[in-house]
Amino acid sequence: MFVSLYNFKDEVRNGFNFKEIKINDTTLRDGEQTPGVVFSIEEKVNIAKMLDEIGVQQIEAGTPAMSPEEIKAVKSIVQENLNASIMGWARAVKSDIDAVLKTDADAIAISIATSDIHLKYKLRKTREEVLEMATNMVEYAKSHGLYVSLNSEDATRTDFPFLKEFAKSGLEAGANRLRICDTLGVLIPASSKYLTKKIIEEVGITVEIHTHNDYGLAVANALAAFEAGAEWASTTVNGLGERAGNSSLEGVIMSLIKLYNLDLPFKISKIYQLSKYVEKASGIPIPPNRSIVGQHMFTHESGIHVDGVLKYPYTYESFLPDEIGASRRIVIGKHSGKHAVWDKLKSLGFEVNKEDLMKIVEIVKKRAEERKSALTDDELKQIALEVLK
Ligand code: MN
Repeated sequence: MFVSLYNFKDEVRNGFNFKEIKINDTTLRDGEQTPGVVFSIEEKVNIAKMLDEIGVQQIEAGTPAMSPEEIKAVKSIVQENLNASIMGWARAVKSDIDAVLKTDADAIAISIATSDIHLKYKLRKTREEVLEMATNMVEYAKSHGLYVSLNSEDATRTDFPFLKEFAKSGLEAGANRLRICDTLGVLIPASSKYLTKKIIEEVGITVEIHTHNDYGLAVANALAAFEAGAEWASTTVNGLGERAGNSSLEGVIMSLIKLYNLDLPFKISKIYQLSKYVEKASGIPIPPNRSIVGQHMFTHESGIHVDGVLKYPYTYESFLPDEIGASRRIVIGKHSGKHAVWDKLKSLGFEVNKEDLMKIVEIVKKRAEERKSALTDDELKQIALEVLK
C-alpha cells in the first residue's frame, strides 16, 4: 500500500456507505461542450471503444437533437455493440427524446433545471410546470423502453423541498435514477455527501453525481457522493467540459482504486492511451502538472527525487507509470544530482570517472539555467563527448 495509511483508519472510514460503483462517462456529450471542441464520428466511435475497454458501464454519447450528424454518431456507437450501455442526452421536450429514439440508444438523460435562478431567468417557468414537463417526459421515455437518468440541472442551488419533490415525482414516473448536477461546481465534499445521503434516505432513488471543477473540487465531490451511497458518477476524460470542466475519469477511477483501495473492475492500464487520444482529438492539451495523466507525474529531475526513485520508485510515486500505460522519464537539468547524471550517461552508453562526471554536471546545470529548461538526451551526449575528448 503506497497511499496514506490514514485513509484506512476506522475513524476515517466510519460513515462510509459504498454501494456498487458505476461510471457514466460523458466525454462525448459534456466533454464535447468544451468551447471549440468537436469530435468527428470516427473519433467518437474510437473514444467509445476505449471507454468500453476500460470497463466504463455507461457512455453518454451525445445530444441527438443537436443535428442529424449527431444522431448518426450516436447510432454508430450503438452499432458497435459494446458492453457499455449507450445514453443519449435530451432536454425535457418530446422532440429531443424522439431524436434519442432514432439512435437506438438504450438509455437517456432527461434534463431540466430545478433551481429558482434557472426557473426565473432562463426557463421562465413555475415549479409546477417543471415538475409536469419532467414527469411527462420520463413517462414518455419509459413507454419506449429506455433506461432513464432524470437530471436536475443546478440541483446544488435548488431548495431541498423542491429537489425532493422533483426526485420523488421522477421516481414515481419511472426514472431509474436522479442525476444531481453540480452545474456550477459549487459543492464542497461535505455538502456533496450530505445531499446525496439525504436524497437516498428521503426519496429512495438511485443517485448519480455530476460535478464540475470550478473550484478544483469535482473529483473530491464525486468521491464524497460515493462515500454516501451514490451508485453513479459522471466523468470526462482529462476533465474536459465547460469552464473548468467535469470530474475526470482518470481522477475518479484511480482515487477509488488507489486511495480507497476498492476492488473495481476497471482496466486502468488503458487510461494513458485514452487520455492521449482525447488530448489529440479535442485539441485541448493536457497541462504537464495535471493529476494522474500529466507528463510531470512521471518525470523526475531534482537530485533528491531521482536518487529516491532510482533506488525504490515508491519513494516518490504512489503508483507506477506503467500501471496506467505511461512510462517514467528522468530528465537532466538544473536540479539534477550526480547520481541521476551518472545513471543517465550509463543508459546512453557512457562510463565516466568521478572527475569527468563532476565536470559534466557543472556544464549541465549552467546550460539548464541559461536556457530555463531541462536537457535532451542528445544534448547530454554532446556534453559528455566534449568532456571526454
Ligand atoms: Mn455538466
